[in-house]
Amino acid sequence: MSNFNGTLYIVATPIGNLADITLRALDILKTVDIIAAEDTRNSKVLLQHYSITTPMTAYHEHNEDSKSNFLLSKLEQGESVALISDAGTPLINDPGYPLVGKVRRAGFKVMPIPGPCAFVAALSASGIATDRFCFEGFLPRTSGARKAIFEIFAKKPETLVFYESSHRIVKCMSDIQEVYPSTRKISIARELTKTFETIVMGSIEEVQELLISDNNMQRGEFVVLIEGYDKKTAKDSGLTDEDIELLSTLLTECSVKTAVKLAVKLTGQAKKELYKAALEVNANNEAD
Ligand code: SAM
Repeated sequence: MSNFNGTLYIVATPIGNLADITLRALDILKTVDIIAAEDTRNSKVLLQHYSITTPMTAYHEHNEDSKSNFLLSKLEQGESVALISDAGTPLINDPGYPLVGKVRRAGFKVMPIPGPCAFVAALSASGIATDRFCFEGFLPRTSGARKAIFEIFAKKPETLVFYESSHRIVKCMSDIQEVYPSTRKISIARELTKTFETIVMGSIEEVQELLISDNNMQRGEFVVLIEGYDKKTAKDSGLTDEDIELLSTLLTECSVKTAVKLAVKLTGQAKKELYKAALEVNANNEAD
C-alpha cells in the first residue's frame, strides 16, 4: 500500500480507543507528505502511539480558508495530504468541507479512508431503528430552539440522531421529555469505545431517571438517538392521527373531561385511550 501524489486523503481516526484505526489509515498517515490536523497537540498522541513522524499542520475552523489554499498548493506541487480531525471522521461536525470543495474544484483526487464515526457506532449498538434516520449534528444551544426541532421530529418516522455535550445533556433530556410522549424509546450512547462506555436504551421516562440519578451518566461525550413516530403503534393503541387532532382541537375549548366525552362520541374510540392521549396533549401544551 502507498499513497498517490496530488491526492487529499480524508482519514478517520479513533473516537476514544486508539486501537480503532485501520491498517490503511496507518499506511496513509505514514506515507503522505503532510497531515492537516484539527489540533496538532491532540493528534500528536495518536501519531506517537503508532510511531508516525509525518509533519503536521493545523487546519481548524478558524483558518479553514487560508489553510485550504496552502494545502491546495501542496497538491499542486505533487505532494499528498491527509486530513484528520480530533476524533472520528473528518467533516462530520468537524472541519474540512471548504478544503474538500476547493480540492475537487481544482481537479485533484479526494479519497476517503473510512473508519470510526461516533453516531454510526451509536446507531449500530443502540437498539433503536436504523433503517431510516436523520443525523442533526449538534442541536441549537437554547432550549426553545431545541424543542422546536423535537416538535418536528416527534411526528416523523425516522430515528433522530444528534451529538450532545456534558454541559447540556440534562437540560436537553428535560426538553425531550417536555415534547415527546414519555413512552417513546430513546438511547444515550456515552463515551463510546472508552473505559466508561455506557449505552442505555429505554422509554424517555426510564432513561431520564437513569440520567438524573447517576452523576457519572452526565459526564463525557454523548450521542442521543430518539425513536421515530410509529403510526402502527399509535394505531395499536386504538387512536389515529385524526383522532388526536380532533382531541387537540377540543382541548383548546373544553376541559379534559368534556373533550374526552365528546371525542368518544365523535370517534367511537375507547374512553381510556382518549383520556391518556388528552393528558399527553395537555402536558405538551403546558410545556410550550
Ligand atoms: N467527527 C466526529 C465523528 O466522526 O463522530 C464528531 C466530532 S464532534 C466535534 C464531537 C462530538 O461527537 C462529541 O461532542 C460527541 O457528541 C460525539 N462523540 C465523539 N466521540 C464520542 C464518543 N467516544 N462517545 C460518544 N460520543 C462521541
